[in-house]
Amino acid sequence: RGDVLLQVRVAQVDSRHVLVLAEDRTEARRLEAIRRDFVVNISHELKTPVGALALLAETVHDAADDPEAVRRFSGRMQQESARLGALVHEVIELSRLQSAGALAQVQAVPVRGVVEESIDRARTTATGRNIRLASAGDLDAAMYGDHNMLVTALRNLLDNAVNYSADGSAVTVGVRSAQDFVEISVVDQGVGISRDVQDRIFERFYRVDPARSRETGGTGLGLSIVKHVVADHGGEITIWSQPGQGSTFTVKIPAAHVAAGAAGRATLVA
Ligand code: ADP
Repeated sequence: RGDVLLQVRVAQVDSRHVLVLAEDRTEARRLEAIRRDFVVNISHELKTPVGALALLAETVHDAADDPEAVRRFSGRMQQESARLGALVHEVIELSRLQSAGALAQVQAVPVRGVVEESIDRARTTATGRNIRLASAGDLDAAMYGDHNMLVTALRNLLDNAVNYSADGSAVTVGVRSAQDFVEISVVDQGVGISRDVQDRIFERFYRVDPARSRETGGTGLGLSIVKHVVADHGGEITIWSQPGQGSTFTVKIPAAHVAAGAAGRATLVA
């Protein structure tokens, strides 16, 4: 069958016996294809800003006696280098997550800190576009994981919620805690995602609308990073979305059973 790759080796043992060794190489071939695609995609993604920077540098050089043109083109250079920086940062982040032991510090992590830090970082873009950011629910719960990686995941979800929403809308982070896990939902009223591509958006470099993603400084790697962080925590990510009505991304992370220590710091008790 076309979708199964068997590598067969035949060796003559003696005049009457032949040894046949068949190895299923399907998974190895799939992983090799993913690696090859990633290298092709990353080369393409890097070439675009690098090419643009070279061209812009040349233009600035030629326009040296026109201060207005210099200002305009050097502004574009700043945008392109920020995009390049974000891409390099996310590629490093992703490869770190793919290697073992990516979670540096696993401990009881108060949800409030993760939510507040993520909202603070997303606020600059949101405020500029009059988007209201709010949190609700059981912020006093605690998760078991790595604070920084959980902030990275939530920040990526919040950045997307803001980037794919109209000016003046609202983005809410809702927290629900159960016996064994904590659920954090990022709810937006944005463009939404049609059902047929809802699985694909977690693939590296997949974008529903590449032009819009680039315009907002997107790299196409954010959700792959989120997926890895959640998997490394032994958690789950689910999505509800309807085009034109908005999206809700929900991550489920194992709960930590915590008691507040004397200094106000969370202490793991179970
Ligand atoms: P990007 O850097 O392009 O945002 P992501 O991996 O974070 O990359 O997301 C992949 C794609 O999924 C985006 O390009 C966008 O098309 C879609 N997407 C992600 N989050 C949302 C959202 N909250 N609303 C609508 N579309 C979204």
